[in-house]
Amino acid sequence: MKKTAVFPGSFDPMTNAHLDITRRASKLFNIVFLVSANAKKNCMFSVEERKAMIESVIGDDEDTKVEICTGLVSNYCYKNNIDYIIRGLRYSNAGEELDLANIWYETERIQTIFFPILTPQYKYLSSSRVRDYIRHKGDWEYMVPHTIYQIIKDKINKNQIQ
Ligand code: ADP
Repeated sequence: MKKTAVFPGSFDPMTNAHLDITRRASKLFNIVFLVSANAKKNCMFSVEERKAMIESVIGDDEDTKVEICTGLVSNYCYKNNIDYIIRGLRYSNAGEELDLANIWYETERIQTIFFPILTPQYKYLSSSRVRDYIRHKGDWEYMVPHTIYQIIKDKINKNQIQ
């Protein structure tokens, strides 16, 4: 039987890099996306919208669910008896990711499992790049899963994106 792992992040919005990580991680774990409601981050999408976008991708997959996280990821894991956290790894944030992995291990003995992106096209993808391309009308369609592209496009057409 698969163990459960949380995949925490802002997902503002979920990208194809997140999807790539999810696809590989789901071979090992049942996944709980933990969407951060951290008010300090200046998000383009509300936490409910970010959750709904991920749900549009996972559909009715019973091994995956999406939760909103209003507190610490480690507290969520402790309360729900979850011992694993999934994170992505890239050169630009490896130090930060290792710091987080250390904190999670020290506080609740949670093991972080890292997935580097191996698909060249998605290696340098980030949610912030997607947001920049949306704002400046670049080509961002290939950066996000198709259902998410349609949700965002719909918001753009209704002038609902700042
Ligand atoms: P945060 O808000 O903590 O930056 P994100 O929502 O952007 O988190 O991403 C969640 C996780 O996905 C992080 O571990 C981040 O490193 C990882 N990730 C996102 N894009 C990539 C990528 N292109 N390559 C590797 N990891 C990635």
